Amino acid sequence: MAQALSTRYPLVMVPGMLGFVRLLLYPYWFGIPAALRRGGAQVFVVQVSPVNSNEVRGEQLLRIIERIRRETGADKVNLIGHSQGALTARYAAAKYPQWIASVTSVAGPNRGSELADYYVRRYPADSACGRLLALALRVLAGGIWLLETGQRGPLLPIDVEASHRSLTSEGAALFNRQYPQGVPTTWGGRGAEEVNGVRYYSWSGIVQDKRSDSGGNRFDGSHFFCRLNVRGFFRERECDGMVGRLSSHLGQVIGDDYPLDHLDIVNQSLGLVGKGADPVRLFTEHAARLKAAGL
Ligand code: CA
Repeated sequence: MAQALSTRYPLVMVPGMLGFVRLLLYPYWFGIPAALRRGGAQVFVVQVSPVNSNEVRGEQLLRIIERIRRETGADKVNLIGHSQGALTARYAAAKYPQWIASVTSVAGPNRGSELADYYVRRYPADSACGRLLALALRVLAGGIWLLETGQRGPLLPIDVEASHRSLTSEGAALFNRQYPQGVPTTWGGRGAEEVNGVRYYSWSGIVQDKRSDSGGNRFDGSHFFCRLNVRGFFRERECDGMVGRLSSHLGQVIGDDYPLDHLDIVNQSLGLVGKGADPVRLFTEHAARLKAAGL
């Protein structure tokens, strides 16, 4: 596979909410950057505020892209965002399309997450439970900063309410009105594949009986968590435990029903996924796709 994945522009991997580069020795994108690099891709795994709005995270990402452009001499980058990382990438591409070759949404809540809707409804910010939840998120974000070994730097700003607002269906609708690039104009449709010279792609999975709960996932606590969350979804029963199948659509939809939950899709935890599922391959195939498109 040598050089088969040597895309013209570097790949920049943007994590979702409560994301990180590496906690001590534990990477967020489990085994994925290594597989891409083996194929000759230049990969940057980055960190932005683990709990904040798409806009604040997007501005931080733009500063990182500025640095990568300076260091590599590349005109543009390919952004690959998981979960809220997709919306973060979309913001950056909307603001500086001349710096971005493509945006790829991996299980991105492009139309919001019913799970976020559930939490905001069930635990309003001014309730005791809401305050407790906000405190827990701040503690988690602080813990991520303490344990982060992949990208050292000052503590990034945390804003729990802004984070929630960015991820609800209502918040995503507002965001999409300002930054509509690549978002389907009809529910469940396909979005524009190219806007302002930026290519848009997406893929996502859904929790599936007898498939996603097989193999290593039988031992993965995060899969039980995702399965439990499915009960909080009413508009889209087909979901990955955090994001609905159709809500994830952006630009060219590569696939939206892989038997992968929201964390399987980045090969968590520790590569424990359903039998036969291969989330890493989706990334290597995509790098080959970007290369073939001259990106
Ligand atoms: Ca898993």
